[in-house]
Amino acid sequence: MSDLLSLSMSDARKKLNAKDVSAVELTEAYIGAVEASRHLNAFVVETPEKAMDMAKASDARIAKGEHGAMEGLPIGMKDLFCTEGVQTTAGSKILKGFVPTYESTVSQNLWNAGAVMLGKMNMDEFAMGSSNLTSHYGAVENPWKASDGSNYKLVPGGSSGGSSAAVAARAVIAATGTDTGGSIRQPASFTGIVGFKPTYGRCSRWGIVAFASSLDQAGPMTRTVRDAALMLGSMAGHDPKDSTSADVAVPDFEAALTGDIRGMKVGIPKEYRLDGMPGEIESLWQQGIDWLKDAGAEIVDLSLPHTEHALPAYYIVAPAEASSNLARYDGVRYGLRVDGEDLNDMYRNTRAEGFGAEVQRRVLIGTYVLSAGYYDAYYLKAQKVRTQIANDFKAAWESCDLLLAPTAPNAAFGWDEQQTDPLQMYLNDVFTTPASLAGLPAISVPAGLSSKGLPLGLQLIGRPFDEETVLRAAGVMETAAGFSAKPDFMAG
Ligand code: GLN
Repeated sequence: MSDLLSLSMSDARKKLNAKDVSAVELTEAYIGAVEASRHLNAFVVETPEKAMDMAKASDARIAKGEHGAMEGLPIGMKDLFCTEGVQTTAGSKILKGFVPTYESTVSQNLWNAGAVMLGKMNMDEFAMGSSNLTSHYGAVENPWKASDGSNYKLVPGGSSGGSSAAVAARAVIAATGTDTGGSIRQPASFTGIVGFKPTYGRCSRWGIVAFASSLDQAGPMTRTVRDAALMLGSMAGHDPKDSTSADVAVPDFEAALTGDIRGMKVGIPKEYRLDGMPGEIESLWQQGIDWLKDAGAEIVDLSLPHTEHALPAYYIVAPAEASSNLARYDGVRYGLRVDGEDLNDMYRNTRAEGFGAEVQRRVLIGTYVLSAGYYDAYYLKAQKVRTQIANDFKAAWESCDLLLAPTAPNAAFGWDEQQTDPLQMYLNDVFTTPASLAGLPAISVPAGLSSKGLPLGLQLIGRPFDEETVLRAAGVMETAAGFSAKPDFMAG
């Protein structure tokens, strides 16, 4: 493998700025890596020509000394972000052939910072899933293999599974993800990379295909914590085109990585200690506690009493919003149309053929919980639970600066596992949905390996708009974990 591919973004940036390597050279190396990793099915669309044009433009800017923060860095864009002139499908058949005439704010921000686009990353259909098995464009393979020699294919997590697989396989230097209930953090945990969901409102949602608008948030998926800080700085910012985008200044996130967490108060929520949780997740969590304590943090045991209701509340709120957001795919305005005898028949045929089983399940659940007679019993109740969960966190911030918990209850599972029971799949999100419902920043940092040699992440959750504290502690944990920047499967 080319040495160029082993560089983190921050190291590649140094070489680019010092003119040790050109953006074109780096991009050519990645185009080769994209081709070499095609068996993973991480891309829906590859855009090598566009990448080369962007790299040439980057080199021209570097020559003039005008480089942006992400100048010349070749990244993958989750296929949920609308990209002008490049097909955007959200992993769905119903959007096949949809070529936006506009660019999402986050992707535009990245291009403005000089980033280079390698292509659109595969994902669970409409970002619904935890496995990347629901994409119309086929399942994505995790580049990791279990150490038991079984060699079966593992999921890369979801819904940002193309992004996580490609970052882990060194096919892109970093990628965007979106997280509604865990879709950045859980795939990051499954593939041994860093995934950071910022505070709701930190990044604009404009031009991102909507799943559940009150929860959706974009964030970086990278190899290192420093890279996450660098990339988030370019993605974030107030956007008048998204009324929920927060008008707060974007700090220099990298400056937060001081390595000093002495006196920081880290809360350990007892409700995250689930019955039947695998011992290796429990001991990894304890390991994380010890690392932070050794670095001078103060550990505070506390309670978030409504935690157990987060998952069911999420699986009411998210489908409710999805059923409303997905009403626009009617065969008239976007993508697929399947004709019928009359207009209603055309709607029915288009949606029956265009949406996969999981999306149809969510639309049905969402429509049901919003319907007259059930609205109060389900949707309104779930909203009340959501407020209680947010209040739990608010109370926690009186005694701590940050919370530490596992990212997911398990390591990556096989393609053939967990497929038949949707509820089993939903359990993957048990540790990620609370921070989503409360809109809080949360990061997954690779922290260790499971008994089968597969990566496991630990999650840090922070106060609203306090990404800096999250990143600072994440940096300390990353150093303590010493998780190889070059995973086992890349040996040689
Ligand atoms: N796995 C969760 C779901 O299926 C989360 C998805 C997401 O964060 N986009 O809803």
